[in-house]
Amino acid sequence: MEDTPHVMMAGEGALALALDMGMEKENLLTEDSEKAWKKWLEKSQYKPIINIENHDTIGLLAIDDNGDIAGACTTSGLAYKMNGRVGDSPIIGSGLYVDNAVGGAVCTGLGEEVIKSVASFLAVEKMRDGASPQEACQIAIDRIMEKSPHYKDFQVGIIALNKSGEIGSYAIHPYFNYAHHTVQENVLIDSKSAL
Ligand code: ASP
Repeated sequence: MEDTPHVMMAGEGALALALDMGMEKENLLTEDSEKAWKKWLEKSQYKPIINIENHDTIGLLAIDDNGDIAGACTTSGLAYKMNGRVGDSPIIGSGLYVDNAVGGAVCTGLGEEVIKSVASFLAVEKMRDGASPQEACQIAIDRIMEKSPHYKDFQVGIIALNKSGEIGSYAIHPYFNYAHHTVQENVLIDSKSAL
């Protein structure tokens, strides 16, 4: 965004740009991942399992002394996805959304469902309208569940932060937890969930 007039680059053009900018092309496949993938190929069944480590989004929201908010999320996406599949993490408003006037939200879980409800944007807009971060997270998860009759088969978790530093979180299923770090404490919190 700082070096081109665009917001998002993809595919071959993104690769060419990254190489032009001096980044190195690396193979990130580890021996263990290759073994697991070859085992998966025996059945080739695409069925993400809830709360099993087949996804790896790290979502972060931060606020400083001036009340300025920043957010980030990073993922390699769900395991064993189709070549070319785009998840929710890179799509602004889906996996992550921050409006420094209001707050931020970040999601993990089955990206397809997050994209369909534009869940992070929804949570931030609800905070803009006066919802607390906790209420906003619940509204976003409720929306995903309303839109997908198969919600029992997948997990989505969301965390949110507002300008006052208040936080919230919610998930479809239990066992979604997140860390809250302040100058006073560093705690792991079990999120509330719909089920
Ligand atoms: N949200 C990610 C995706 O669908 C998966 C994850 O939570 O790691 O690509």
